[in-house]
Amino acid sequence: MRAIRRFTVRTVLPAPLAPLGDLASNLRWSWHKPTRDLFESMDPAAWVAVHREPGALLGALSTERLDALAQDAQFVERVRAAATDLEAYLSRPGWYAGLGADAPKAIAYFSMEFGITGALPQYSGGLGILAGDHLKSASDLAVPIVGVGLFYATGYFKQSLSRDGWQQETYPVLDPDGLPLSLLRESDGSPAKVSVDLPGGRRLHAQVWKAQVGRVPLLLLDSDVEDNDEAARGVTDRLYGGGGEHRLQQELLCGIGGVRALRLWSRLTGAPEPEVYHTNEGHAGFLSVERIREQVERGLTFDEALEAVRSATVFTTHTPVPAGIDRFGRDQIGLYFGGDNPLPGVPVERILALGAEDYPGGDPGVFNMAVMGLRLAQRANGVSQLHGAVSRGMFDGLWPGFDAPEVPISSITNGVHAPTWVAPEVFAMGKQYIGPELPREGLGFEKVGQVPDEEIWRTRRVLRGRLVEDARRRLKLSWLQRGASEAELAWTKDMLDPDVLTIGFARRVPTYKRLTLMLRDPERLKQLLLHPQRPVQLVIAGKSHPADETGKRLIQQMVRFADDPAVRHRIVFLPNYDITMALSLYPGCDVWLNNPLRPFEACGTSGMKAALNGGLNLSILDGWWDEWYDGGNGWAIPTADGVDDPDHRDDLEAAALYDLVENSVAARFYDRDERGLPARWLEMVRHTLASLGPKVLASRMVTDYVQQLYVPAAQAGRAAAASSAAGAKDLARWKASVRDGWSGVRVDHVESSGVGDSAQIGDVVHVRGFVSLGDLAVDDVEVQVVHGRVSESDELRPSGTVRLTPAESFGDGRHRFEGEFALRQTGPFGYTVRILPRHPGLATSAELGLVVNA
Ligand SMILES: *Cc1c(COP(=O)(O)O)cnc(C)c1O
Repeated sequence: MRAIRRFTVRTVLPAPLAPLGDLASNLRWSWHKPTRDLFESMDPAAWVAVHREPGALLGALSTERLDALAQDAQFVERVRAAATDLEAYLSRPGWYAGLGADAPKAIAYFSMEFGITGALPQYSGGLGILAGDHLKSASDLAVPIVGVGLFYATGYFKQSLSRDGWQQETYPVLDPDGLPLSLLRESDGSPAKVSVDLPGGRRLHAQVWKAQVGRVPLLLLDSDVEDNDEAARGVTDRLYGGGGEHRLQQELLCGIGGVRALRLWSRLTGAPEPEVYHTNEGHAGFLSVERIREQVERGLTFDEALEAVRSATVFTTHTPVPAGIDRFGRDQIGLYFGGDNPLPGVPVERILALGAEDYPGGDPGVFNMAVMGLRLAQRANGVSQLHGAVSRGMFDGLWPGFDAPEVPISSITNGVHAPTWVAPEVFAMGKQYIGPELPREGLGFEKVGQVPDEEIWRTRRVLRGRLVEDARRRLKLSWLQRGASEAELAWTKDMLDPDVLTIGFARRVPTYKRLTLMLRDPERLKQLLLHPQRPVQLVIAGKSHPADETGKRLIQQMVRFADDPAVRHRIVFLPNYDITMALSLYPGCDVWLNNPLRPFEACGTSGMKAALNGGLNLSILDGWWDEWYDGGNGWAIPTADGVDDPDHRDDLEAAALYDLVENSVAARFYDRDERGLPARWLEMVRHTLASLGPKVLASRMVTDYVQQLYVPAAQAGRAAAASSAAGAKDLARWKASVRDGWSGVRVDHVESSGVGDSAQIGDVVHVRGFVSLGDLAVDDVEVQVVHGRVSESDELRPSGTVRLTPAESFGDGRHRFEGEFALRQTGPFGYTVRILPRHPGLATSAELGLVVNA
């Protein structure tokens, strides 16, 4: 029989236990072990059965059990203490309070996925986990963020394997009533809703769930409501589930519906409206289109509204892989924003222009969400230094006239939320030997030398042992699912060894991550696994996108290799990589392996989580590792950059990997002193914690975002909005006049004095630039000397710029500018003069993409 309706009956807690309701619904428990311990102590067996989710536990306990606990004075006291602690966490001023009035009152953070806890599976991989860590650290630092995303009825898929190792996907339906979510309601108790118009007179409605992430609210839009037709109900059915149209509708709902949900949130709760809008990758970019519509409704022109919106928008790009960037057909966008479904005041041609790839190499038929994101945000960044540089090269077509290094895309390197990812045993060790503050605020890492070798090694053994137990359990379950019988599986209880060097490799399986690089020479790998004195064991996991057959084939190759009875005790593929598995995987691995095809890994964060637990990294110099590998905190796999044949490149890099594992990694791990300890290994563990610990924290990342992007964006947004948007109107007018007048701008000639042919260090060069500005005023431009080394072909590599000051006007728009600079470099040197637009409302002088060189 099938039920025709389903709902979840919530427990009524006895009064003394009432605070457990708040403790369960605030996801702070996901990074606060004392709160989890409290729930576990209510019924340890039930706790495991409900997958360690407090809300589910409360639902699973009988009234009798709850009544008994309510009578237990000691337990009631613990509940009270936990509630007081949560209250104190939520109300302490935090780091952000020290920033004063310059800091934005609220920041909206849009993302298509959020990975916060295994109990809320609304993520597929790194992008979502990063968004979750961003919210958690913002909560710790008291940054007033509000998250916005979608609630997917089935989240991402669950992965299992067929008998022959092929990935199987299932989509268990989540029941939001049984999750740590609450529905946003109008004052009369009815569900609060937003809607977005669709072509053909249809309308997409959504209700809004709120997850409470410490002090940060996260609003999740859900289209599974009765007001919707069947197709519209399915818009939020899955993460990355459908094709282009489905995805476009999701992005419309997230962006446009998301802004509407924020307005609803402020109206219902009195929360301040966000002053800054941060879009985590381009997917939610329509949020700015909706905000332009709002401004037009308030009386601004499109161009004025565009300035008002851009100034307060931050865009983070996350991938240099073209397939990772959403692109739609222009005709599709035309259908959704034009025809019978225009957005009032926002002409469809203007929207199309925002996402147009109208630069050399672009596809004229395509609407590119990342390109729109860059055009709609005054501030943009990549997620590691290398990725920043790669992004500047990738998008430099949007700033014609500028060399890649000047493209206004900065970088903030990702980080990870230590309270989530550091194993309790590691925390306990830090507390005991260093101090209670470690490592929450990034303090104390330099004191890691105080922890005795024996303690570190003992803890590492505990963590490795726990991973081995977890892997055996998972492997056995997987084999039962693959059709093996209990009797065939006795071997699984002996597979992996808690004393063998353990290497972890887990991530999504797009091709560039090269899951199977280690299988390049299977015999060589076998020798490493089965080495008589210095064996290595590998724990591997990862999901392939359901439509990616190549990825599934890679998984199958890996599984088939690991199925071989000769090696299966030393290498395992564990299905269904998710947060829960990750929590035992990172701490349990001695070495974290990452071998992407450089430079496609924008940052990578899993190696950071391993490092915080005392794991060492063995990685291609890509993403974060390119930035922070220092020769002593792990190993760099040499890249065969420039080798064009991909097979040959893989061969070279795999050979280097095998050599490193055998001759450096395993050699050091098994090099024991008279105490039986690998002293030199432990030295590297200490150095890893001391050198990487403070850097890889998400708290460092979030403070960087606040200081480098949110505060300046709030200031720019306020300047644009002040006095009925006078700033935005002025900026729009000024940009139009500069664009119109730019063709009249040129450098007429340049004179210099102070050096002859025999310049020497310390000489001062005086430069006079004679320029024509046409209709533009002296104040509209900046005239610069750019100087630096020159190549044999006179190519200038800038090392400095000097602003020239206006000295004389000749009428006719002609002017002389002057300035000087001192020579500080020996060798071939040169300079040039150029003219750029200048206005206090610009974040950088490259913003308009306009420049005139001498
Ligand atoms: C950290 C994490 C990721 C992302 O790892 P990358 O190194 O950035 O690829 C993906 N999935 C889970 C479950 C994670 O915990």
